[in-house]
Amino acid sequence: MKEQTRILHSIPVDELTGAISTPIYQTSTFVQEAPGVHKGFDYARTNNPTRKVLEDLMATLEGGTNAFAFSSGLSAIDAVVRLLQSGDEIIAVDDIYGGAFRLFTQIYQKFGITVTYVDSTDTSNIALAITSRTKLIWLESPTNPTLKISDIAEIAKIAKANSILLCVDNTFASPASQKPIELGADLVIHSATKYLGGHSDLIAGIVVSNNEALGSQIKFIQNACGAILSPFDSWLVIRGIETLPIRVKQHSESAFKIAEFLSKHELVKNVYYPGLTSHKNHKIAKQQQNYFGGIISFDLKIDHKDLAAKIVSSTRFFKLAESLGGVKSLICLPCEMTHKSIPKEIRYQSGVTDSLIRLSVGLEDVEDLIHDLNIALSQIETFTYINSTYEHQNTENYNPSSLITSNS
Ligand SMILES: *Cc1c(COP(=O)(O)O)cnc(C)c1O
Repeated sequence: MKEQTRILHSIPVDELTGAISTPIYQTSTFVQEAPGVHKGFDYARTNNPTRKVLEDLMATLEGGTNAFAFSSGLSAIDAVVRLLQSGDEIIAVDDIYGGAFRLFTQIYQKFGITVTYVDSTDTSNIALAITSRTKLIWLESPTNPTLKISDIAEIAKIAKANSILLCVDNTFASPASQKPIELGADLVIHSATKYLGGHSDLIAGIVVSNNEALGSQIKFIQNACGAILSPFDSWLVIRGIETLPIRVKQHSESAFKIAEFLSKHELVKNVYYPGLTSHKNHKIAKQQQNYFGGIISFDLKIDHKDLAAKIVSSTRFFKLAESLGGVKSLICLPCEMTHKSIPKEIRYQSGVTDSLIRLSVGLEDVEDLIHDLNIALSQIETFTYINSTYEHQNTENYNPSSLITSNS
């Protein structure tokens, strides 16, 4: 069976009624025949039939033994960190998701868990950062928002050799594109809010483990801490996953065309997209991903926040919002939105300039999307021309002739 078939046919038909859509078991408790004698469900924090369908589906999809559904991507990350003890160290990818950074530094640091951030696009940096206290390596690939790619299989070898757990946040790629457990990871987490749900209508998280022992530890944490996903949201994620491969394929095809369009545009400086041969780790992306995904970032030759703000506020189909992975295209300005709390010098080190714009390419027709971006960009051509003195004060290497471009 190919993936799309396997997904649709590993979601069970309801045994009781034959319902082809998974029933939503909106109940808190389950009646028992005698104390402790029940049908596998006693209390809905511990286990819920709708949530279980989602969890089993995610274990299958990621090639793991167990999966657990949480009330957000962050509570899934939190559950993994709770495997550690005071004194343990984490090595994490340097341009980690901001919410994970906040959780590590503002919550777990005070419990004695420390984090070393490294540029994991160069595998040797991981090996160099390992100490006797390192218990967990935390990767994202691709990262947000500059789409950095790390070699998951190589890093997994290093982790195994040192008996360190490797967890991959697979939110950006989704299992339709990349399966970290098959590449050697012990744990995978997701913000199911993004591609898994796929319709910008829920908040959810998933943890998948590659063995039963680790799975039962996560299960214990899920039940003991209680950040479970509700039956209705579990149902929405199941429904999203039914079309995941077909969506990711289309997101990726459109994103590739848009990345090519942007690469050729006169006002654009850098385009970050793993599918472009110009991308630093394009070869690794090609090895470990089936698709290059629907997220693209780019910045402008005139690196000014106001110009970028003008673009993100004037697109018609790309809606200005945080988040990603939905059927409708989104656009955002990381320096003012998702990455606002990060100091400018640190931001610039990872390529998040004032003019960096992130796109989440949706399922609209790609010609409409390119047209939309073209109009937004041509608007700033006029804008920059009219305000050329203003740019002059704010930009090094200012060259007015580069601003006058044709609108065709
Ligand atoms: C959104 C996101 C998260 C957090 O997920 P929530 O569902 O918002 O809690 C974690 N990692 C990545 C890469 C994300 O994009």
